[in-house]
Amino acid sequence: MQYDVIVVGGGNAALCAALSAAETKKKILVLERAPEEESGGNSRFTAGLLRIAYSGVDDLATLIDLSPEERARTDFGTYTEEQFLDDMARVTEYRCDPDLTEILVKRSLATAQWMRKKGVRFTAAWGRQAFKIGERFKFWGGLTLEAVGGGPGLVDSLTQIAKKNGIEILYGARGVSLIFDDEGVHGVNAKINGHTKELKSKAVVLAAGGFQANTEWRTRYLGPGWELAKVRGTRFNTGDGIRMALDAGAAPVGNWSGCHAVAWERNAPEFGDLAVGDQFQKHSYPWGVYINAEGKRFVDEGADFRNYTYAKYGRVILQQPGQFAWQIFDAKVKQQLRDEYRIKQVTKRTGNTLEELVSKLEDTDQKTALETLKEYNAAVRADIPFNPNVKDGRCTKNLEINKSNWANTLDTPPFEAYAVTCGITFSFGGLRINTDAQVMSSDGEPIPGLFAAGELVGGIFWFNYPGGSGLTNGAVFGKIAGASAAGG
Ligand SMILES: Cc1cc2nc3c(=O)[nH]c(=O)nc-3n(C[C@H](O)[C@H](O)[C@H](O)COP(=O)(O)OP(=O)(O)OC[C@H]3O[C@@H](n4cnc5c(N)ncnc54)[C@H](O)[C@@H]3O)c2cc1C
Repeated sequence: MQYDVIVVGGGNAALCAALSAAETKKKILVLERAPEEESGGNSRFTAGLLRIAYSGVDDLATLIDLSPEERARTDFGTYTEEQFLDDMARVTEYRCDPDLTEILVKRSLATAQWMRKKGVRFTAAWGRQAFKIGERFKFWGGLTLEAVGGGPGLVDSLTQIAKKNGIEILYGARGVSLIFDDEGVHGVNAKINGHTKELKSKAVVLAAGGFQANTEWRTRYLGPGWELAKVRGTRFNTGDGIRMALDAGAAPVGNWSGCHAVAWERNAPEFGDLAVGDQFQKHSYPWGVYINAEGKRFVDEGADFRNYTYAKYGRVILQQPGQFAWQIFDAKVKQQLRDEYRIKQVTKRTGNTLEELVSKLEDTDQKTALETLKEYNAAVRADIPFNPNVKDGRCTKNLEINKSNWANTLDTPPFEAYAVTCGITFSFGGLRINTDAQVMSSDGEPIPGLFAAGELVGGIFWFNYPGGSGLTNGAVFGKIAGASAAGG
């Protein structure tokens, strides 16, 4: 055998798998389809936020160097395993695989500690996931941990650690098919800088991402209209890992017509741009209202904390006429808008009156838009105080679509509108694995020598997703897949 373990993919799941395999085996090869400067898949595009269960600041202190001042000025709260399990069950409408979900949740903290031990550095996401009340920051929504340097920092540090551990990484190396027979999987046929090679190994870990960057599969599996979505991340996740495994007899599972998709700058490029990263996203809609091309509201912007609605609202935007919408805010919430509203590459309109603002909304029924905004303003329960840190119950009454929380009247100029479309993050359907991350065959048996982790695994996320679970999922199952592959 040339290698003990070959890992297909170069993102978070793949690098965690390689590091885990390297704890017991020597000859580990990582095949990364992207050139080195674009390596790291979707993981590189992230903010590096990881959802982990923790029972208080002391758990976080095992991951983050916290100064006494930082402890004093922050209320980290808790995010228990029960809360994480409840969130997974609730947002996936009770369809998430119970065994895999339990592993995801119960090993989340220990896996982050393992990454920390390997040399990955973490901080707290003060900038994105906490609000300042008086002199103290208070975290909300269960998402507290962030890799230093965000997604690029995470991928670069995992890559350096992998290289230090003697793991070989080939860039521009695309896994094309698995070498397999009745006994199982014995390696990978790969195209490396244009040349096809047969690479033999005792085990293979597939961690090559979902199929969201494959226009044809998107339309085939997610449905008509999905060819019109923008891809938020890497152009290299075209479903290769899934296809290679299915060709070798693997079982598909999960929400094949579902995906993670968000509000994304209307004029963003076809695929993600590493120079902009995740900043094309527009996540502050809970503080404003959405209007579509017909000038109507179409979704409850305040149904829940942003972390629990953002991943399903991209689909709702895609379903609107012209596949776009406007997010509208007034000056009262300007300070609360996330950094991504202040980048250059935004499609933004401003007006000193609502009349002036709507007159600038192209492709939109302006008359209806103005009526909608006035009706909305009149329906706000202004007697309930606004509080961004809790679901404040400040709602609208008697609208066709009410806003359940954070309903502020749009009354303070200047008014702003941002045009968004649907940005797809990753597909939910994928390969069936067992709790050892072994890929299952369509006959219901593990396929000897084949393991999988990350985006290309199905059955965990359905319809929706609690923010920050993707990196945790890749890390937890990457670590398991690597260990299983090395042991097998
Ligand atoms: C803009 C954006 C922001 C996000 N923010 C967050 C966040 O803050 N927190 C969070 O938890 N999640 C976030 N996500 C989701 C997160 O990126 C994914 O869930 C996670 O990174 C998936 O990890 P992975 O290793 O499975 O896939 P990836 O990181 O995408 O890695 C897949 C790898 O496979 C390689 N590959 C593909 N095909 C082949 C082939 N044939 N041969 C060899 N290699 C191949 C790719 O080049 C890539 O390196 C975000 C996603 C995007 C796009």
